[in-house]
Amino acid sequence: MPPAFDPATREALLARVRFYRDLGLTEFYRRPVDPALLAKFEALSVTSVGEHEPQASSPPQNTGAPGLDSETRESSQFQEDAAIPPRKPLTAPPAIAAAVPQKDRAAALELIREDIGDCTRCALHTGRNKIVFGDGSPTARLFFVGEGPGADEDAQGIPFVGKAGQLLNNMIAAMGLKREEVYIANVVKCRPPGNRTPEPDEGNTCSPFLFQQIDVVRPQVIVALGATAATYLLGQRQPLAGLRGRVHAWRGMQLIITYHPAFLLRDPRQKKEAWADLQIAMRELGLKAPGKG
Ligand code: URA
Repeated sequence: MPPAFDPATREALLARVRFYRDLGLTEFYRRPVDPALLAKFEALSVTSVGEHEPQASSPPQNTGAPGLDSETRESSQFQEDAAIPPRKPLTAPPAIAAAVPQKDRAAALELIREDIGDCTRCALHTGRNKIVFGDGSPTARLFFVGEGPGADEDAQGIPFVGKAGQLLNNMIAAMGLKREEVYIANVVKCRPPGNRTPEPDEGNTCSPFLFQQIDVVRPQVIVALGATAATYLLGQRQPLAGLRGRVHAWRGMQLIITYHPAFLLRDPRQKKEAWADLQIAMRELGLKAPGKG
């Protein structure tokens, strides 16, 4: 008899299998199961599935356009190249900061967070519930950069916890990593109204904090998720198609540019392309896909 999973675990497993199928991975082999390991896994999956879910007791506020569910709203902004407003001047990137010793990185990130404070530097502060600073390991070798918080992130103060976040979690797992092992942050730390693309003055005001976070974590590889992340990291707007599929040397680190998960939710056919980009990141990091020798 198949094991009886609780609904959340079942949904998470189904999402994982669908994700692999979209990547073109369709053959799954069952290994003999060690009951002790299975018990451990079940304990793990139950906590990790619920970990970043919105709490039933605190529904997200400020949920944007009425009548659209969170997936539609989250993905509606992402037409990738079409999403970026006409070219406006982007500020020059800050000078590369001195390396912070690994043991001091958590504290250094905390200082950046303190510097941001209860920020009112741009108009986005008027509509936010929570500042979404960043999440993950201060010593991560892999750093994901998104665009800006959506409704779920704004409610919880954690990046990528909505539908796009679930897909990002699957992408991270497919790379053989745990979410806690990577670092995730956005170009802007406050939710743009209706999940619109950040205005250049908003991106320019907030992105120096992202640069500071990256300089502290000093990952080997950065993956820019979507055109907005690529634009602010590179300091210039270019079509995503010409930026994907290769390694860019960037501030002494390796930058890989791929599609935003919200875009992949709208156009799952592009998941194969995104997976190819992630495999470049894996190659640079010396990672093998789980189950591959
Ligand atoms: N999209 C983003 O770009 N960032 C988030 O944190 C969530 C959705």
